[in-house]
Amino acid sequence: MKDISQKPRSPRTLAVHAGTRRSQYGEVSEAMFLTQGFVYPTAEEAEARFIESTREEFIYARYGNPTVAMFEDRIAALEGTEDAFATASGMAAVNGALVSMLKSGDHVVAGRALFGSCLYILDEVLPRYGVDVTLVDGTDLDAWRAAIRPDTKAVFFESVSNPALEVTDIAAVSEMAHAVGATVICDNVFATPAFSRAIDLGVDVVIYSTTKHIDGQGRCLGGVICGTQEFVRKIAEPYLKHTGSAMSPFNAWVMLKGLETMDLRVRAQADTAWKLAEALVGHPKLTRVIHPHLDSHPQANIARAQMEKGGTVLALDLAGGKEAAFRFLNALEIVLISNNLGDAKSIATHPATTTHQRLPQDQKDTLGITPGLIRLSIGLEDGADLMADIMAALDAA
Ligand SMILES: *Cc1c(COP(=O)(O)O)cnc(C)c1O
Repeated sequence: MKDISQKPRSPRTLAVHAGTRRSQYGEVSEAMFLTQGFVYPTAEEAEARFIESTREEFIYARYGNPTVAMFEDRIAALEGTEDAFATASGMAAVNGALVSMLKSGDHVVAGRALFGSCLYILDEVLPRYGVDVTLVDGTDLDAWRAAIRPDTKAVFFESVSNPALEVTDIAAVSEMAHAVGATVICDNVFATPAFSRAIDLGVDVVIYSTTKHIDGQGRCLGGVICGTQEFVRKIAEPYLKHTGSAMSPFNAWVMLKGLETMDLRVRAQADTAWKLAEALVGHPKLTRVIHPHLDSHPQANIARAQMEKGGTVLALDLAGGKEAAFRFLNALEIVLISNNLGDAKSIATHPATTTHQRLPQDQKDTLGITPGLIRLSIGLEDGADLMADIMAALDAA
């Protein structure tokens, strides 16, 4: 079979072809190997495979599966990492990357502006097992400098935070972490593999919730850990395969097909998101429009330098607080009230009462999760239709 990875290829080519394993039938579209187990020709072969197996020899789908391997190789090629491990959800990837490399007594520094479940792992789970976690304002390089110690084992951040879209200076934080030998783990969901090369900026381990832009059509949960062969196979894999974090072959197949169209989709979505953000600036019902590439964004320069486009999500802060936010949501006709993002369907979320409901008020304040904040994930609908829908809902608010 022709191996397209023999020459350097651009990301859009890799997203369509990398990692493909064709069966003896020569199928064009990737086969879905919906099997838990694999047959060994002999008892000796079974024994040998349990001692050591290659990437083309499978044992059990919790350890690996050909469809899952295709997805792992494709996303690794796209991300520019040696290897990747696919997981059942984005959170399985975040938890697996951290827990597999940490032990009691280790120190971790993390940006405080995190997706609710990421915060739960860093703030509650890891400390319970004796990991010392320091949370910092991820936009403040002095805070990172003060928190990173000679014995810091890992740093963790969302390159663009959920939901207030704070931006971390990836290169600067990575440099500080590497100075003490710490591993840099970046949750890069909002930047998407299309707009950012986190690895080139110094990140060691890149994590995606593939539930978001990689599926991109709201069907399946999934996650992936991209990194060196050493990290993925020697550190993460033993933990992940024995604790049951595997991605299902069906979901891997959906994600493979999702990668083929991801670049086109997220560019179209990001272009509409940018037009909407620009048009909404100064609207009388809004106190803030948040989008990483807007001049008013405090880290706009960093966002522009490390992300080719500003992403598919923007956030609006309604002057009238929760009541106005609810009137806005209830008046939307095209944009759905839900909580996924990166979907072909535009989605509006009220973080204060849903995804971030359980945070105490002072934490909501620090993270900018105000009563009027709406997170808008822009989909593939016609931009003018979305604009009309959002403008009408703002009138109603
Ligand atoms: C959604 C999300 C996750 C979790 O992903 P799941 O697939 O829902 O488990 C983690 N980090 C960020 C930034 C997210 O947006």
